[in-house]
Amino acid sequence: MKLCPRCESKGRTIKPVTLEAQVVPARLDQLGEHDGWRLCTSESCEVVYFRDDEVVVLGETRGVPFHKSEDPQRLVCFCFEHSVADVEADVAENGTSTIQVSIKAECKAGRDDCERKNPQGRCCLGNVGQVVKRAAPDDAAVADAVAEFGYSATPLR
Ligand SMILES: [Zn+2]
Repeated sequence: MKLCPRCESKGRTIKPVTLEAQVVPARLDQLGEHDGWRLCTSESCEVVYFRDDEVVVLGETRGVPFHKSEDPQRLVCFCFEHSVADVEADVAENGTSTIQVSIKAECKAGRDDCERKNPQGRCCLGNVGQVVKRAAPDDAAVADAVAEFGYSATPLR
């Protein structure tokens, strides 16, 4: 079954390494199979991961997946620990996202660990981009600045 058993939203495949890093040990011990788990893509469903009828819910994982919370204090980048509020404040202060640039540089240098640290099990830059876009008064200016900074090898933080 590829749909969440609670909300029938689509599930997106995750790797065992994500499940093993995210599910709290006491709960992980109860799971028989680590293969074949999926992430529930619904924003409102409490299920984080499911495998057929078996579910892992919010509170049983180390991190809250970005799409399942609206708390500005929640992390959007789990590898380098940037919250949504951090990204918004950065854009407000600098008119561009220096955090987004620094995350890209860290990833390029191979210092990210998204499969383990991000509950979604993949790179956070798509989510960061969403937050930046929402926070920026002028999308075009931010896009230009990011493109420009993107080629800079100088660490910004
Ligand atoms: Zn669900």
